[in-house]
Amino acid sequence: MSHDTVRTSGAAEVLAAHSEFLLPAIMPYYEEPLVLEEGSGSWVRDADGREYLDAFGGILTTSLGHCHPRVVEAVREQAGKLGHTSTLYVTAPMVGAARRLAAMAPGALGRSFFTNSGTEAVETAIGLARAYTGRTEVIALRGAYHGRSALTTTLTAQGSWRPLSSTQAGITHAMAPYPYRCPFGQPCDERCAEALARDLEETILTTTNGRPAAFIAETIQGVNGVVVPPSGYFRRTAEVIRRYGGLLVIDEVQTSCGRTGGHWFGIEHWGVVPDIMVMAKGIAAGLPVGVTITTDEIAAGWKGKSISTFGGNPIAMAGMTAALDVMVEEDVRNLAATRGARLIAGLELLAACHAWIGEVRGMGLMVGLELIEDGPGKVPSPGRAKALLEAARQEGLLVGVGGLYDQVLRLGPNLLFSDSEVDEALERLGRACRQVD
Ligand code: PMP
Repeated sequence: MSHDTVRTSGAAEVLAAHSEFLLPAIMPYYEEPLVLEEGSGSWVRDADGREYLDAFGGILTTSLGHCHPRVVEAVREQAGKLGHTSTLYVTAPMVGAARRLAAMAPGALGRSFFTNSGTEAVETAIGLARAYTGRTEVIALRGAYHGRSALTTTLTAQGSWRPLSSTQAGITHAMAPYPYRCPFGQPCDERCAEALARDLEETILTTTNGRPAAFIAETIQGVNGVVVPPSGYFRRTAEVIRRYGGLLVIDEVQTSCGRTGGHWFGIEHWGVVPDIMVMAKGIAAGLPVGVTITTDEIAAGWKGKSISTFGGNPIAMAGMTAALDVMVEEDVRNLAATRGARLIAGLELLAACHAWIGEVRGMGLMVGLELIEDGPGKVPSPGRAKALLEAARQEGLLVGVGGLYDQVLRLGPNLLFSDSEVDEALERLGRACRQVD
């Protein structure tokens, strides 16, 4: 971070202006929201000059840390060369980014459509599925989060994220995996995956006309609190949706680019190739990019015109290509696997000291701690999650919260988070846990 930055205003003034000029629906974290001014690698600095270790990465988005020099350089260079064209013109950065993604994506997924957010990428995926199948009905999962538009908030199945516009027709929700609270038995395993696949089939038979366009699911439900489906789940559900003629749409907005460790995309852990896959967040290391990727055949199903003025913007594409280069060179898939294992092992030790940490779960560097009340019944504890979020901030550590009841603490640091940063995060979180005790 540069130390000679001229401060334009203190935190108090920025916060006052935030409450005056922005929609109150924007609800920043913390009793007193945090005003961030600078970031470098795994660290950010607030408007009062205090530094924090960032273990949430702007919701798993600054995948290479803040202001990675290669990404900054690519953006700077492209901004000085050609900043915008729209999709009416062809640019090398857009083609280059699409080519790299095609090389990384599983199976025959090789045709991309670029937008500016996860929401738009999901919209595009559902549009593609409907165009290709000539059908309209879509099944999503309870607990899902897919975005903020009318369609994607209807796909979303957490009441607090569904505004009045979440009323689109033709969308129903099947039971979602939730191993910690699985109604089909403990441990939640292949048998539960089978029961959940049966529920998907029943949902198709009872709440649709039996001809679904698609089943959409996050590989790991992030906003719902880092919920990892049991082994076999996607193999079975893919079989069900395809048997009824629908497509499998996988939302990798949080789980792409090596986040889950060992593979580029989360779904690869389940050995399934989706028909359409959606990415955003970390895929461009913090630049606003959404991607929908599919096969030649499905892509050809979209006959009408479509345009995205900013989608595939050359600056975002140049930055994204640089980010993907770094991800491949540094092999962040394996870094996420080893650093994630170190993080989870440390969190397990913390959980052994605090009975109110009900479960530590996750894959790679996508991790959640489900917090519960004292006593039996695994009662969700949003109060403890809120207290821990605040205490972590006091200790100079940024983490996130999720879960239907806001009862899950989430960690999603950048994929270059070092061993010593993992240890530092664990130490700070340990102190925060003792504050909550
Ligand atoms: N899908 C998933 C799985 C997400 O987590 C999110 C964002 N939290 C979205 C879609 C929507 O992305 P965006 O906020 O970029 O529109």
